[in-house]
Amino acid sequence: MFWKLVWRSLRLRCPVCGSGKLFAGWFRMHARCSECDTRFEREAGFFLGSIYFNYGLTAAIVTIAYVPLMLMRVASNTTLLLAAFAFTVLFPMWFFRYARALWLGFDQMMDPRDRRDIPN
Ligand SMILES: [Zn+2]
Repeated sequence: MFWKLVWRSLRLRCPVCGSGKLFAGWFRMHARCSECDTRFEREAGFFLGSIYFNYGLTAAIVTIAYVPLMLMRVASNTTLLLAAFAFTVLFPMWFFRYARALWLGFDQMMDPRDRRDIPN
């Protein structure tokens, strides 16, 4: 179940059926699954939880990459800080869709919905 939900999230597909697309554009989500009619936003503010995935992964990557690069003196401190700053701005925008999809998958794992629950 865990890996199936991760796979569906990484493919940006509905966590319930695995077929419907979550996004209509880069930042615009479909309200419901086109295949099984699952409503993606279960309640107002539901997707605030996806920030944990986005922030957590961004902070982890910068922290894990910055320290060794600084110690190996790959570039000057200023260059590394500018690169880290650019990464912390650009990466979360790219990862936005995946963070929401992973949040949906996490929610599906913790509080499963199936096709009988729909519409909700
Ligand atoms: Zn679906």
